[in-house]
Amino acid sequence: MTHSCLTCRPGPDSAIDYKTQIIQLPQRFRGPPASGNGGIATGLIACIGEKILGKPIHGISSRLLRPIPLASPMTFTSRITEPDTASISIGDSDGPALTGWASTGTSTAVMPNETVALLASNAALTKEKKDRFENHVEQLNPSSSDFAGCFVCGPEAEFGLRLRPRPVTDEISWLSWDPGERWTDNNRLALLPAIASLDCTAAIGFHREGHLTQQESALLGSFDATIIEKPPARIAGNLRLVARTRSRDRRKIFTDIGLFSATGQPYILGLATWIVVTPEKARGK
Ligand SMILES: [Zn+2]
Ligand SMILES: [Zn+2]
Repeated sequence: MTHSCLTCRPGPDSAIDYKTQIIQLPQRFRGPPASGNGGIATGLIACIGEKILGKPIHGISSRLLRPIPLASPMTFTSRITEPDTASISIGDSDGPALTGWASTGTSTAVMPNETVALLASNAALTKEKKDRFENHVEQLNPSSSDFAGCFVCGPEAEFGLRLRPRPVTDEISWLSWDPGERWTDNNRLALLPAIASLDCTAAIGFHREGHLTQQESALLGSFDATIIEKPPARIAGNLRLVARTRSRDRRKIFTDIGLFSATGQPYILGLATWIVVTPEKARGK
């Protein structure tokens, strides 16, 4: 079996039952207060894709159509569209909540080489960047309390990853991450947390950087990732999350993010599109 991460096995982190084709995200996998985390949802596409294709996948794409149901059963459908690609839809009686695909093919990366090089060059910090990281003080914004329990970034998420990158330059946010033993899949970091780690970690700086006003918040709209290889589960110097906001175009914000070794070797690259919404809408009202 090529795929056996914690979410795909029985237990408190279990989310997918392949036999019944039922997906149920436990409460801990929330993003906004009442719906599933977008990165976790995207990770489901990766898990299902790898399981169906029976080989390591190298590319995924997901599109979130509405808030992801939390602690409520969903089902998935899948079909092989090309020899190396599985098309997947996840939803419930209200229709699809997200759709996407996973592929074992190594097609074009989600970001240009220059962007990969820019992110990679920040995997290891200079003294100046390290000082900036250490002296950073977070300012409160509309997302601070709404997403305090988010599985990926929430400081109050008891079973969460609690990933909060900080700025190391005016455009780059950074974090050193040791995922611990919990998410190991065959000595590698399991796909679902690996993908999820590249979700709202790219959006934490939106208010600080001026991409969002105090009257605005953002929700994940779509996410594309290139999986060069699954990161080692435990690695010298930890994993490094490096992100930057590419641009905002009216109601959309584009982010580039990658998971690297301490020396800048890329493992997973992610390109997300965020939709600007009111804080009330982000909260699920
Ligand atoms: Zn899995
Ligand atoms: Zn979050």
